[in-house]
Amino acid sequence: MIQLYNVCKSYQKDSSAALHNLNLKIPKGDFVYITGPSGAGKSTLLKLLYCAEKPNRGQILVNGQNITRIGTGHIPLLRRRTGIVFQDFKLLENRTLFENVAFPLEVQGKKRYEISNKVYQTLKHVGLHGKLHKYPLQLSGGEQQRVAIARALVIDPLILLADEPTGNLDFEVTLGIVDLFKGANARGTTVLLATHNREMIRRFPRRVIALENGQLVDDYTP
Ligand code: ADP
Ligand code: ADP
Repeated sequence: MIQLYNVCKSYQKDSSAALHNLNLKIPKGDFVYITGPSGAGKSTLLKLLYCAEKPNRGQILVNGQNITRIGTGHIPLLRRRTGIVFQDFKLLENRTLFENVAFPLEVQGKKRYEISNKVYQTLKHVGLHGKLHKYPLQLSGGEQQRVAIARALVIDPLILLADEPTGNLDFEVTLGIVDLFKGANARGTTVLLATHNREMIRRFPRRVIALENGQLVDDYTP
């Protein structure tokens, strides 16, 4: 599903590499934690996978496609099968929950009735179908993250990328969020979750890929 070969990424010439000669294989349907101290390269790895950044060297294959070669015109197609969740949610504050979650389907040009069915189902799945017409700032942080996850899942992604999705949430709320990732994974989505949260990994042990200074220092399944 995801293959990296000798991937190097530096943001500036002469600066030390954010990722250095990274080799990685993640099979379809895996659930993988990306761990490591701040600055280790976790976000950079995720950014390369959704083409927000390009590597300086090396090859990245996603679903058999070499994404280091694709032109900007094809990036939207790649993103159609990739859901992304950020620590700070990145919801549109002047849009309702419904509108936030509908957005990726509108971009794909889906029909209106398809959109409303799918958005309703997905918000139901994350437990927020009673708040369709609320705005993000009327919700708690945990609820906002559920909306962000609904927005990522509404496209039925092959891959779900999450960058410190529970970084600002308390532990009870975190467990609920992890359940949503588990659910998506159980339905076949490959999940990559960057986190500092050891307790999460202890409670839900899955493959761990540890980065340090842009290098892979550990890869194990507890
Ligand atoms: P992590 O997510 O593990 O905290 P990052 O991937 O954000 O690590 O960062 C890896 C390294 O790349 C760090 O040294 C960071 O300062 C650097 N870096 C990240 N983004 C940028 C950027 N946009 N411009 C310059 N340097 C960056
Ligand atoms: P769980 O097993 O986590 O309780 P289910 O897979 O049983 O969840 O799903 C509950 C309901 O939510 C079902 O009606 C299902 O169709 C719907 N659902 C689940 N995941 C999604 C999704 N990603 N998008 C839209 N609807 C979903």
